[in-house]
Amino acid sequence: MSHWENKTLSTTCASCGKALNTYVDPDTTTRTTWPLVGEKDGKPFTYAACTDCNTKGWRPPGATN
Ligand SMILES: [Zn+2]
Repeated sequence: MSHWENKTLSTTCASCGKALNTYVDPDTTTRTTWPLVGEKDGKPFTYAACTDCNTKGWRPPGATN
């Protein structure tokens, strides 16, 4: 497992604000929520991104890849 510890059932895309489920589908062909590791307040933080933003190459603040 990753650092994905959001305990709520829904979240929003950190880029466009679209509503997302917190479930991260292990199958990347059907996945709708992409956990992207960036930085918040100087510490590693996992942001949620929708498929569109992830595909477009959006990365959260502090992301190194
Ligand atoms: Zn998005």
